[in-house]
Amino acid sequence: MNEWCALPIPYPDELLYSVIARYHIRSNNTSPKWTLREVFGTDNVIPTIDLPSHLDALSRRNVVQIMADEWINRHTFYTYYAPFLPDSLAIRVKALMRSTDGSGIHALVGITASTIDQTNRLWFCPSCYEQDIQRYGEPYWHRIHQLPGVYLCPHHRRVLHELTSPLSDRHGLNVLPISRHMFRSIAVIEDLPNKLIDRLSDIAEDIHLLVQQNKLPALYDLRKAILPRLTEKGFVTVLSRIRQQKLCEQPVLFYGRELLDLLDSDPLEVRYSWLEQSTRTARRAVHPLRQLLLIRFLYGSFREFLNRTDVTNAPFGNAPWPCLNKAADHYKNLVVTQCDITRCSDTGQPVGTFVCSCGFSYSRRGPDRSEEEKYYRGRIKSFGPIWSDKLKQCMQEGMSYRSTAERLGVDTNTVIKYANGKSPVREVPLKPKHAKKSGTAPTPKNTRKSPRMRVDWEKRDLELSWNVEQVCKAI
Ligand SMILES: [Zn+2]
Ligand SMILES: [Zn+2]
Repeated sequence: MNEWCALPIPYPDELLYSVIARYHIRSNNTSPKWTLREVFGTDNVIPTIDLPSHLDALSRRNVVQIMADEWINRHTFYTYYAPFLPDSLAIRVKALMRSTDGSGIHALVGITASTIDQTNRLWFCPSCYEQDIQRYGEPYWHRIHQLPGVYLCPHHRRVLHELTSPLSDRHGLNVLPISRHMFRSIAVIEDLPNKLIDRLSDIAEDIHLLVQQNKLPALYDLRKAILPRLTEKGFVTVLSRIRQQKLCEQPVLFYGRELLDLLDSDPLEVRYSWLEQSTRTARRAVHPLRQLLLIRFLYGSFREFLNRTDVTNAPFGNAPWPCLNKAADHYKNLVVTQCDITRCSDTGQPVGTFVCSCGFSYSRRGPDRSEEEKYYRGRIKSFGPIWSDKLKQCMQEGMSYRSTAERLGVDTNTVIKYANGKSPVREVPLKPKHAKKSGTAPTPKNTRKSPRMRVDWEKRDLELSWNVEQVCKAI
């Protein structure tokens, strides 16, 4: 056995399986086993169509310098699955693909558990077939045409074909015959209404765009990325719950059950639907096709989703945000629409100041990493009339400082401070825009000069702000 082999140069978007099959034909080997030994250094390997293994060995033996990573990213299904896996899992999948033990790959990706499993198919587009022969002198198996959910060629918007004779040998190395007279084929789907064909074509385009990404998007925790749009479209309640019932019905109306059935993705068929999984905090990977269906339903297309500006430009997500004024009836309700973003001078991290129409405003250092962080409050910037009226009321009712503090969501010192006559305009002074004008506003400094005050407010303010800072950091 040779120490090396000379695989053909892969064509654009050609499956690695297809490259090996072309090598098999060229090398005139009678048995695929012999070819596998030349390519991988062992015949104890299955030339898997979707997520093959032994790729370090393959790239080491190949005289043409193509790194294992390039084979993985451009000629296997890796870029189809990896964006929707947790980072650590994607790394493990890649490591297994490079290793000589590929037995766990499919289970890791969750393919065995999924109903959308068409890994054994070999389909082609009749237009690509002609075009490839003209361009390259031979046809080949395109990766895009084999990906789950692809029924049409995204380049030609044509329904894909499968061979009817000669029938492919599941364990062999099947090439796409070079002459149209050498085989027969039929369309993989027939008699579908045009509307459905258009939808399938759109889905194929989304999948094509996904696998072409140079930098793979991290979409395992899809909920986080799509939450602004879910909110916008009215799928989120004021308490940040997803309206699952509505979310289950609308995509079905959008795609139609016939299409979702074809794609094994009818959310109404099971009690706990994949849509519910997709919009809850990620616990396990959801099939890429289903995530793409949800994305297209929400954004119009995967491209629109990638071009969205809400994540990068909005470290605190999109409006509305909760008002965290414990004195208000709308406490924790998503009623705040104004968020001013500045940068922390020390860390460069974004700081959001959320201003509610009730006069209460608070800030928080970002970016938010989870939905829960929406409810974390950093400094209070202003209290507003509802809060100070409530404070007055508590004092008049003879409540203790401590229970008042509890009732108003601040610490006891703050209550003591404002109950004793300090104007609760701002707990922490906002930076004046024009330093010269700052003296006109009733600043806390004026209050500190009051002769009745025995507490060293300056010191206490400093201590307080230091405490707040520490809590912020801890958060
Ligand atoms: Zn085509
Ligand atoms: Zn409010």
